[in-house]
Parts: sequence; C-alpha cells; structure tokens
Amino acid sequence: MKERNVGGLRCSEVLAALSEYVDGELDRSMVDKVENHLLGCPNCERFGRNFGSMVVSLRKESQQSPEAELEVMSRLLERLRSAKTEA
Ligand SMILES: [Zn+2]
Repeated sequence: MKERNVGGLRCSEVLAALSEYVDGELDRSMVDKVENHLLGCPNCERFGRNFGSMVVSLRKESQQSPEAELEVMSRLLERLRSAKTEA
C-alpha cells in the first residue's frame, strides 16, 4: 500500500503506533495525530476499522478488557463512522 502523510504521520508510523493507541499508551498529542491520520487516510481508515473491531472482539473474548480500552476503540470507530457519513 502506498505511504501517505496525513495529520503529520505516515501510514507506517500509524500502523506501528496502533497497538499502543489501543492500549492507551500514547501521548495525547500522538493520539490526536493517529486519529487525524485515520480520518484522513483511506488506506488506514479501512485498516483501522478492521483492526478496531478485531481488537474489540479479541478483548471481549479474553475478558479482562478494561473499559477504558473499549472506550478508546469505540470512540475511534465512532469518529471513523461519522467522518464517513459527513464526507
Ligand atoms: Zn495511512
């Protein structure tokens, strides 16, 4: 897939940061960058959507999913969804 630079991050940087994003280990400013990239980059938006639902279901199955993490993921999915309908 082609690298794009959206929101100050390249695709590879976003993908590298995604698991930390899900785990809530990123700085606030980095979270914003990741979200901006996901919202602005069709490649990563698709990937983020799949990744997000995968992570959420994995977390559900392996129980002990801190609600904060699900909260982060659902917020991401919500933003992706609303960005889609607004476009
Ligand atoms: Zn991207």
